[in-house]
Amino acid sequence: MTPADRLARLIEAADRVVVFTGAGISTESGIPDFRSPGGVWSKMKPIYFQDFVASEDRRREAWTRTFTGTAGWTGRSPNAGHDAVARLVAAGKVSSVITQNVDNLHQDSGIPDDRVIELHGNASYATCLDCGLRHELHHLKPAFVERGEIPACRACGGIVKTATISFGQSMPLGPMARAEEETEACDLFLVLGSSLVVYPAAGFPLLAKRNGARLVIVNREPTEQDPYADLVLHEEIGPLMSRIVPPV
Ligand SMILES: [Zn+2]
Repeated sequence: MTPADRLARLIEAADRVVVFTGAGISTESGIPDFRSPGGVWSKMKPIYFQDFVASEDRRREAWTRTFTGTAGWTGRSPNAGHDAVARLVAAGKVSSVITQNVDNLHQDSGIPDDRVIELHGNASYATCLDCGLRHELHHLKPAFVERGEIPACRACGGIVKTATISFGQSMPLGPMARAEEETEACDLFLVLGSSLVVYPAAGFPLLAKRNGARLVIVNREPTEQDPYADLVLHEEIGPLMSRIVPPV
């Protein structure tokens, strides 16, 4: 039996699968893996949360990056890997998708918002740091691009920031708690495209394993957690997952 066949069997035998995704599922959509050599963070420095809040200059730089697409976080389409995961969710096989990505591609592939748990936030919209109001980027862009106006909250005047979790910002409590619950409740934990090096997110696969779930890791490169997995595949996600969960 091939590794792909074994994965298909494990998915079939599982009652409740949690899918955990990282940059590797979105590189096939053309979104760069920002931690890799040549990735975003090797070309430009991250803007720390504290600096964003404290400095108008840093806010201006952050918004310039957002509106010029410099960071390349968003603006792409879901690929075959996202679509296969969406089919597993629609079939009732996958209870939720925990993602380290901020690109909104799981939602764009048709997975309901409440099934996607975002550990690092979302770069496709913004929120007010004071009152939490959501702001759409296309509403904020014209004033910034045409008049250099740094976005401020239309309700309270507070500082507005893309809804990502920045360096220096604490992990979001709600999503972290939900991710933990889902991880403990699953019987198969499927990692798709994460190098599993960024904690605390990278702690979930082992938590699943400790709770008796099967662990499968699909990633182009080996990960430190490969030795703990029941099955490891070093393959491209889109082609693999489309074979396992073919389009209907
Ligand atoms: Zn506000």
